[in-house]
Amino acid sequence: MLLLVDLDGVVYRGSAPVPGVPALLDRCAAQGDTIVYVTNNSRWHRDEYLARLDAMGVPVRSDLIVTAARATALALAADDGEPSTVMISGGPGLARELRDVGLRVVAPTAKGLAASPSVVVVGVDFALTYRRLSVAADAIRQGARFIATNRDPVYPAADGLWAGAGSMVAAIATASGREPDLVIGKPEPGLFQTAALSVGWPPERAVVVGDQLATDIVAAHRVGARSVLMLTGVTTRAQADAATADQRPDAIAADASELEAVLARYRPESTRASR
Ligand SMILES: [Mg+2]
Repeated sequence: MLLLVDLDGVVYRGSAPVPGVPALLDRCAAQGDTIVYVTNNSRWHRDEYLARLDAMGVPVRSDLIVTAARATALALAADDGEPSTVMISGGPGLARELRDVGLRVVAPTAKGLAASPSVVVVGVDFALTYRRLSVAADAIRQGARFIATNRDPVYPAADGLWAGAGSMVAAIATASGREPDLVIGKPEPGLFQTAALSVGWPPERAVVVGDQLATDIVAAHRVGARSVLMLTGVTTRAQADAATADQRPDAIAADASELEAVLARYRPESTRASR
């Protein structure tokens, strides 16, 4: 069975693991499930998640972590034709993911613009300035493809909500007069498609485990995967019960033991028999 597991609100909340989930994932891996960890976050490189998950006792390898940054890199690498020069309005982890697949990366500076980038990738950019915003918009106006890692307007931090990649995408879209040509992250299907295909599975055979109706569950529907909503993150039971059809999960789990029971029902007969 292929599990596409969201991180924040499912595996951990902030720096604390969700009780029972790392141990459950370890048991799932031991009985042969393939587990890919997916997140809309584009700021960090996979290696940073690897260290964090490993410390929590979560079974993981670097190639089983597909962030929106990694999925963007894989999507660009799969493009036919000349290798692109990519302008990045985003964090160092995003730049590193793109360099990992052999792309030439430039910053949103006058020098970067002079390199005639064919693509502008926008993720959450902690170094965003008026100047960087103007240059990224300029590159798009000059004909570069506009790719957004995700459109999350905000995301939760320890001291409140911080501006997400979507805020920066909106600013660049307004300044350039163009909407993104491609958005990779949830609720768009690209992140889950890339994550499933990266391990050789058709996305529609995946089981998505997430904590957000409007992103995780909607994206699961879009790729035709089953979905389990965890109530360990941002969604309450009342919100889950009131979900519209496109946001309705196949199952709801309040904690790790309920998730384990749902997954046992979903696991194919053949793997259950061979245990
Ligand atoms: Mg989440």
